[in-house]
Amino acid sequence: MCRCRKCEKLLIPDEIAMTKKLINRGTTIYYCIDCLAEAFDVKKEDIEAKIQYFKEIGCTLFIQ
Ligand SMILES: [Zn+2]
Repeated sequence: MCRCRKCEKLLIPDEIAMTKKLINRGTTIYYCIDCLAEAFDVKKEDIEAKIQYFKEIGCTLFIQ
């Protein structure tokens, strides 16, 4: 299991995929949605909407 680098929350696959998308595919450091939102200065809902968007366009990083 992966944990958020910052708050140590257990991560779901979507959060891992989103970290890869926002940072880079090869990263081994992951963040939860809350910490990603804070780091990129956006709302949590914006990150969730992006996850939904990437799933809809069939991004392979995201589990359907
Ligand atoms: Zn976190």
